[in-house]
Amino acid sequence: MQLNIIGSAGSYPAPASTCSSYLVRSEKTSILLDAGNGSQSHLYGVIEPGELSAVVISHSHMDHFADLIGIYHYLKYAFPPKSPIPIFSTGEVLEKVKYLVGPGLIDRSIFNLNEIAPGSEIQIDHMLMRFYHANHPVPTLITRLRDHYSSMCYGADGDLSEGLLAASKDSDLLLGESTWVERTDNFPTGLHLDALSLALLAQRSRARQLVITHVAYPADKSKILEIVKKNYAGASHLAEDGLTFSF
Ligand SMILES: [Zn+2]
Ligand SMILES: [Zn+2]
Repeated sequence: MQLNIIGSAGSYPAPASTCSSYLVRSEKTSILLDAGNGSQSHLYGVIEPGELSAVVISHSHMDHFADLIGIYHYLKYAFPPKSPIPIFSTGEVLEKVKYLVGPGLIDRSIFNLNEIAPGSEIQIDHMLMRFYHANHPVPTLITRLRDHYSSMCYGADGDLSEGLLAASKDSDLLLGESTWVERTDNFPTGLHLDALSLALLAQRSRARQLVITHVAYPADKSKILEIVKKNYAGASHLAEDGLTFSF
């Protein structure tokens, strides 16, 4: 599998980084995980949007789904896909997409909207995706992906949970969020992870490699990496827009 970091900024864009979006490829299958604000401009350099096999949107926060609307308009009015692109997400996201495109206006030759829930499984070619419940204020899906050779977990947004532990267990790569360096009283539970909780999760789930993302500017990324390396024995890396990981 190959993971392309399209956008890695947490909660809002950073000076040189757009919001969450990741492309996972296995042979001819290309799955886009999230399309946060600004990410569409980076997507063009990596894949033609009409060639996506599917899009999964984890939840309804703008830093994870805003640019799905831009992708829709690009496909509708510039370069239509050969067949409708399947979109998988929560009912809440799908309602927002319909509202933002315009009531009754979604062209089904462009997007094929599919509601999924924790426990759902979707097979796209030889890529299997399973979804888990995240501990976040709105309905949020964690995605585990597996092909013939390897597995990965995209934790989306959310604090520690049974779903996150199950989804990341024994994965070859865990793409996990550390919005904050450290948890303080300003940062409530049930919202996001900090560096230490992400490291302990990766250690406990025996993920073989950790890619740290969704750091909220101007948090100190080098401090996050330092805390993670002290508390997690596997290989750890900071996500940056444009990076590629093969595993
Ligand atoms: Zn977010
Ligand atoms: Zn969120």
